[in-house]
Amino acid sequence: MDSSMIGKIEKARRYAGESRERIAFESFCAEIKGDNDAHTVEYNRGAWNCGCHYFKSHHWCSHTKTMEYLLDGMIAQAQEMLPNAA
Ligand SMILES: [Zn+2]
Repeated sequence: MDSSMIGKIEKARRYAGESRERIAFESFCAEIKGDNDAHTVEYNRGAWNCGCHYFKSHHWCSHTKTMEYLLDGMIAQAQEMLPNAA
């Protein structure tokens, strides 16, 4: 491994350690294994979705909250993604 590769890997480790400051997920899809069933949670530019029944009537659920807790500080909010937002 040459020195530039080593530098890239060191940088990647540092970035990962500073993830809350450096990373904002704009969209993702994840399956969460609940106690009874697995559910698919989706996030896209501020909009959440989950396949469970509770989400349909409440627009949030334990599965979307799980992802919010897991990615605390790393989910880009809708207003942050407007084209001219500072
Ligand atoms: Zn759900």
